[in-house]
Amino acid sequence: MALRISGRALAPSALRNTTVLPATSRKQWVRHYATPVKDQENRTAIVTGSARGIGKAIALRLAQDGYDICINDIPANEPGAKEVVSEIKKLGRNAFNFSADVSNLKEVENLVQASVSELGPLNTMISNAGIAQVKPLLELTEQDFKRMFEVNVYGTFNCYSVAARQMIKQGTGGKLLGAASIVAFKPFALLSHYSASKWAVRGLTQAFAMEMATHKITVNAYAPGIVGTAMWDLIDEKLGELSGAKKGDTIKKYSSELIALGRTSEPEDVAKTVSFLSSPDSDYMTGQTILIDGGIIFT
Ligand code: NAD
Repeated sequence: MALRISGRALAPSALRNTTVLPATSRKQWVRHYATPVKDQENRTAIVTGSARGIGKAIALRLAQDGYDICINDIPANEPGAKEVVSEIKKLGRNAFNFSADVSNLKEVENLVQASVSELGPLNTMISNAGIAQVKPLLELTEQDFKRMFEVNVYGTFNCYSVAARQMIKQGTGGKLLGAASIVAFKPFALLSHYSASKWAVRGLTQAFAMEMATHKITVNAYAPGIVGTAMWDLIDEKLGELSGAKKGDTIKKYSSELIALGRTSEPEDVAKTVSFLSSPDSDYMTGQTILIDGGIIFT
């Protein structure tokens, strides 16, 4: 007869009387994992915006972890995407590149279909693609605001929902991950619509976690701090134009004044946490947004 673990059974007095869980209970628990143990040998992931920066580091790290990877970016970054594919193949894993704009639902549907046809059932979707813009609030145009939300918020919704439908069809469970940011906890001035879009990613992640749990799909987000990528080069330059700081000085100032560990982040710092969130070791986590910022925001 299968035994259920009730809340009462976890009370200290009950624990004193319970040494080993019956095998039937342990089996039932394992079946609820988002990464089925039997599928670990052949896992697949899509990483959006992975021709460069944090997405590239995540794709390479997941390939080292044993994932086959679908590299996605916009057509303009196809040369970079192709280089990442060949780096992954050198690691002995399968990979291919599929250009698509994540803000377009139809293109994301094509992306997921292509990944399944090329690599097999989808286990993990990393909705990493994003854009940033530095501009004072009162100078933002309607188009600035729209495009920010189209890529960062609709893009995440498209990736989460299309991947979730595929995972539900497969009946395998899975993992959805989104790119949030420190600004999803405390906005940066002059990055207001970017900050609001990352708060939305955090909110969507929590909402999806609630509705996807029944399908054994976990949903979490990673929140980098200040990472030395093309995105932060642009932010540093534009913040400098507004404050009069020289190129590179804003990042230096933030490193010494804001970051407890005293240095900005490498993309690989973020990829390590995403590796954990994509592995069975995080199967009992959902709805979380995890900061990897060297100690800027303390939760
Ligand atoms: P990046 O600009 O270096 O790379 C982003 C990639 O996304 C680019 O290759 C770009 O072409 C791609 N992309 C943009 N729009 C796209 C679209 N519509 N469809 C498909 N691909 C698209 O940026 P990054 O620093 O590597 O950032 C990656 C993610 O991490 C972003 O979501 C970003 O907001 C987030 N993030 C970055 C930092 C940082 O300090 N760099 C901090 C916090 C969060």
